[in-house]
Amino acid sequence: MKTSMKSIVMSGFIVASLLVASSCQKDDMNAVQYGSVLSVSGDGTTSVIEANLKSALVETADLTESELASLVKMKEEEKLARDVYAVLAKKLGSQIFTNISAAENNHLNAIVLLLTNYGSTETSIGEAGIFADAAVQKLYNDLVSKASVSIEEAYITGALIEEMDIKDLTVALTATTNENVTLVFENLLKGSRNHLRAFNRQLTTLGVVYTPVYVSQADYDLIVSSAMEKGKQYRMNGQGNGMGKGKGGKGKGNKGNGSCNN
Ligand code: MN
Ligand code: MN
Repeated sequence: MKTSMKSIVMSGFIVASLLVASSCQKDDMNAVQYGSVLSVSGDGTTSVIEANLKSALVETADLTESELASLVKMKEEEKLARDVYAVLAKKLGSQIFTNISAAENNHLNAIVLLLTNYGSTETSIGEAGIFADAAVQKLYNDLVSKASVSIEEAYITGALIEEMDIKDLTVALTATTNENVTLVFENLLKGSRNHLRAFNRQLTTLGVVYTPVYVSQADYDLIVSSAMEKGKQYRMNGQGNGMGKGKGGKGKGNKGNGSCNN
């Protein structure tokens, strides 16, 4: 008798919790938020909004060896851009190089965030202007000395770095199916196209016609003749592998009953 009362009470609780759970789910669905992971300023400087990037990450399988290698390679390339632009900003007192160098630092951090998300230890950035890979070190040295000659050469070097990024990110995107890697690379690619537009704008003002090296003339023309790109809208989930719940994805849809604990 006592036992059956208990089981009635228990099933009552279960039904009640199911009702609560389904009403919470409904609230959460109504509260799904979308946001851009990119911020684009008037001069074309394009940065990743870190909080939104965290919220946009989804659960995936672990990184493959080749995805890890490609993230580490792009990390070096973002650092190369950041460090070349930082030297030019200082030498030329140029605002655009200051702004874009800061954006490249932010791109670098976006890659480090992703590496950290997957528990990789390849997250060190190292000293500015120093690169582990000898070929990247030589490229850095050559670019800095070439770019330092004049403001024209500086912008030409900026365009060269951005079209190199465009080529490498495009290749890297074809070699991954990981949603988070794709999200980061697609947005860095938009950033590089915007930076290419920004440098092309400066070159055009100076009357310099730039000839692309890494992308085709047709692709180059298409990029520089189109408008600055804002990022597309991503669902803000507030989660990622091993990162726990982010601030953005939780609690916003609760109607104050405090019983949603998903
Ligand atoms: Mn970049
Ligand atoms: Mn860039």
